[in-house]
Amino acid sequence: MQTFRTATEAALALRPDVPVYCFRPQVLMADARAFMDAFPGETAYAVKTNGEPMVLETLSKAGVTMFDVASPGEFAAVRAVAPKAGMLYMHPIKAQSDIRLALETYGIRVLSLDHEDEVAKILRIVRALDLDPATVTLFVRLQTKGQAAYELSKKFGAAPAHAVELLQRCHRIGFKVGICFHVGSQIEDPETYERALASADWVRNRADVPLAGLDVGGGFPAEYGHDPRRKKPQMPGLGQIMSRLRSDLTEWGFSDVPLVAEPGRVVVARAFSLIVRVLLRKGRRLYINDGIWASLSDSWTGKITLPARFIPDPARTTRNGDPNTVGAFRVCGATCDSVDILSRPFWLPETVDTGDWIEIGHIGAYSLSLRTRFNGFYPDTFVEVTTPFDEGGDVQGFASLETMAD
Ligand SMILES: *Cc1c(COP(=O)(O)O)cnc(C)c1O
Repeated sequence: MQTFRTATEAALALRPDVPVYCFRPQVLMADARAFMDAFPGETAYAVKTNGEPMVLETLSKAGVTMFDVASPGEFAAVRAVAPKAGMLYMHPIKAQSDIRLALETYGIRVLSLDHEDEVAKILRIVRALDLDPATVTLFVRLQTKGQAAYELSKKFGAAPAHAVELLQRCHRIGFKVGICFHVGSQIEDPETYERALASADWVRNRADVPLAGLDVGGGFPAEYGHDPRRKKPQMPGLGQIMSRLRSDLTEWGFSDVPLVAEPGRVVVARAFSLIVRVLLRKGRRLYINDGIWASLSDSWTGKITLPARFIPDPARTTRNGDPNTVGAFRVCGATCDSVDILSRPFWLPETVDTGDWIEIGHIGAYSLSLRTRFNGFYPDTFVEVTTPFDEGGDVQGFASLETMAD
């Protein structure tokens, strides 16, 4: 992988026509360590956020020894780069064959569930493999209500009374038991964890079984950009959220229970930016070489605001517009699909034109892990960049919050 000081230097040297991911291993290590230092338990990185080998390897080097996995592909990806790392199989609804693979081939001993039929599936395989249930920890996934940009509790999780039954059932069989929840991604309300902890406390008291662990999931917010026309949102930083979480854990009496967190976004978001090229400017529209079916599906949902940096092509000698005025441009993706248009405009200098590049920052989470081969486009070019995005020169534009009318 070629190394550059900044993405701007990479763009000007390579003049890329394809999207280029700028990987910042030092940023990834620093963000992983910051999380591990602040969280009073084990950190299990959620592989689905970005499962690239370079990411898993760097995390392993940074001292991450646990990974939250959900599929055979993720088991293999972790094992390939971190053979000694522990894996938590935290998908509540699993294929029978995948449970067997996890227990038999990968030696995974921590699984989650939210229904009694899943207990039966796991038990059948535990018996078939002649394993002692006491060597297996089953986390009962608790339904949570909260505010996050991506609400996931609608899909998984047992209601509190059901969770009590599940804990007792697993305990009676002889499994170790724990409680887990996942409040959704990019929480928007710092009270979210406390509400989940209150619910976990209710469940623990009624279940009255020894608790082998509490897993607070992911959801920790990453820093993104903000709409230049609006006030900066008053979301507390990770430090504040963590100190709040630590005091909530104490207050609800969970400080003596082994704790796990499954951060994804907050660990990996800042570790990548993406250089895209403007293939054509048509009025207020920019047609770029990436889009919702590649790296930008997370921003397409319109829930996050990505910071962006303008990289003008020095080969263009004439430009129209005032370079000091920033305006909103609608961004159309690379595929022929008519929905491949970002829901938020990019704010860029009025002079932006065909052939220019845009560096989109903080795009390490749910970007390359979600890219598809749709229409034959598959961005897969990487460079290493040594300067953090925020220090790589002025951020001139933002992929903003407002939906734009054509
Ligand atoms: C996706 C996921 C995570 C990671 O969530 P982030 O918001 O990226 O931190 C953690 N746990 C589970 C169970 C998940 O599904």
